[in-house]
Amino acid sequence: MTHPENTPPILLVALGGNALIKKGQEGTALQQLDNLKVTLRQIARLSERYRIIITHGNGPQVGNLLLQQECCDAVPKMPLEILVAQTQGQIGYMIESTLDSELMAQNLTTRPLVSLISYVVVDEHDPAFKTPTKPIGPIYTKKQAEKGAWPFQKTARGYRRVTFSPKPITIVEKREIKQLINMGFIVICCGGGGIPVIREGRAFSGIEAVIDKDLASARLAMEVGADLFVIATDVKGVAINFGKHNQKMLRKLTRKDAQNYLKAHHFPEGSMKPKVEAALQFSSIPGKKAVIAFLEDIEKAVAGNAGTEFID
Ligand code: ADP
Ligand code: MG
Repeated sequence: MTHPENTPPILLVALGGNALIKKGQEGTALQQLDNLKVTLRQIARLSERYRIIITHGNGPQVGNLLLQQECCDAVPKMPLEILVAQTQGQIGYMIESTLDSELMAQNLTTRPLVSLISYVVVDEHDPAFKTPTKPIGPIYTKKQAEKGAWPFQKTARGYRRVTFSPKPITIVEKREIKQLINMGFIVICCGGGGIPVIREGRAFSGIEAVIDKDLASARLAMEVGADLFVIATDVKGVAINFGKHNQKMLRKLTRKDAQNYLKAHHFPEGSMKPKVEAALQFSSIPGKKAVIAFLEDIEKAVAGNAGTEFID
């Protein structure tokens, strides 16, 4: 990878929902702002050496908004894609304000930031519209799930409501994002995997779904020509036999092994599978590096000293 002078490499960091709300936490505004510090302190430091794009999940937040509107009949209910837009606003604000403080604390006051409402195009004929797979919202007990009015699925963290999760085809604002990072902005975008839209002629229209943020981030990383893609989550990396006595965390993972483990169902839908698929897609481009790492290890992962690195 060679870069002309003054054009640092592009780093895209995808933040998991747990960057904002940790396991077992209620998810108050203060908790979310506090949790972001450790992640954004690292990103502030990295911004001295990289052009930076930050994407983020929204599972708990969009689920909370759904719950809020289901508890209240006094105002009209908003469709899911409008709730996704709301989470891009609320989380974008929390990331921006925390990152701004961390940049100031490190005397990097000249680094401008921007959060971008982002659309992601999906195919209305995507087979994913037949079966809901994406967990959203709070964690329920088996009993609560059985009584619930929505489709539920047992995940690693408990029972969760699930919705449709079509594949991202393209990020509508990719050119704007590229221009902004080239101008020196740190760009926060594709929140919650982006607002799912379908093309209607030359226009777009929203559709009931939640796009996986890891797959949308891989798409964006490829479309803007990112050099390094870090998927930051609440585990140290990718494991095989996850949760079993013979669980093994992998520091390096060849693309071929990753494909075989995918086939052997080591990575569940809606959590580790899309991360592995996203890392595989991005790292298929020669010279590009993808890492799945712990949120507190982002800098170490960038340096090649933590997380699961995808190799040829
Ligand atoms: P995020 O909000 O970061 O996208 P997810 O819950 O979607 O987080 O995915 C991360 C979770 O995936 C981990 O907390 C872990 O419990 C789970 N997981 C499932 N299978 C594996 C695996 N094979 N290796 C590591 N983690 C796994
Ligand atoms: Mg996830």
